[in-house]
Amino acid sequence: MIWIGTSWKMNKTLAEARAYADGLAARRDLLARVHAFVIPPHTAIAAFRERLPYDVPVIVGAQNAHWAPAGAYTGEVSMGMVADAGATLVEIGHSERREYFGETDETVALKVEAAVNAGLTPLLCVGEPAAERAAGRHISWVAEQAERGLSLLPAAQRRKALIAYEPVWAIGEHGREPSPREIAPVMEMLHAGFGPGTPTGASAVLYGGSVNPGNAASLLAVPGTGGLFVGRAAWQVEDFLKLVAIA
Ligand code: PEP
Repeated sequence: MIWIGTSWKMNKTLAEARAYADGLAARRDLLARVHAFVIPPHTAIAAFRERLPYDVPVIVGAQNAHWAPAGAYTGEVSMGMVADAGATLVEIGHSERREYFGETDETVALKVEAAVNAGLTPLLCVGEPAAERAAGRHISWVAEQAERGLSLLPAAQRRKALIAYEPVWAIGEHGREPSPREIAPVMEMLHAGFGPGTPTGASAVLYGGSVNPGNAASLLAVPGTGGLFVGRAAWQVEDFLKLVAIA
């Protein structure tokens, strides 16, 4: 089954999160055809999870969590805490966290390991900046990021992870929509080297960055692509459902 997910980033009140859950519940038939996941901000995880009836097949995620189980880390939350709030998946290493919050391949690897130890599915985000792409180094850059991000997971545990390829130049409102040809070599490398193309790889490799209803089908058709990770184009529940229908 294809994966379709969204992160709301730093958006949505509790009321908005509940309304989104209601919109999903109205289309549970459609959601059963994919692996759907929604990643609210930490403040809304519990309200969203609690509002979602248990027979609505949607995985709830967190956008980040610390690797330590507890302690003096003001402002942080642990993997166990997001699990307690209702998350079963955690996004790790998004390029905005790497750029604005100092995340490194080392902290990302610690978080991936901690997520699996807490029973969560880590969604490891990788992707090259524009300069690396321009220099023709994007494939090796992403391979290195994936290797480092997964480095603390024993081979037998790697199938518990998901990988999202999100080129930095394609993400967000300043991002440029990629062509399938631009992403294909990286998706193939990730599939064959770190994904379901290898017996010890992650369970799927998703593509993310400027996905919209107009390009979703052609991006999903890129070999090795197991799903889509969507930002802006899925922040309204009707739009998320449109993408699920396309998948
Ligand atoms: C993202 O930030 O992970 C993302 C996919 O954003 P967008 O779809 O808005 O480019």
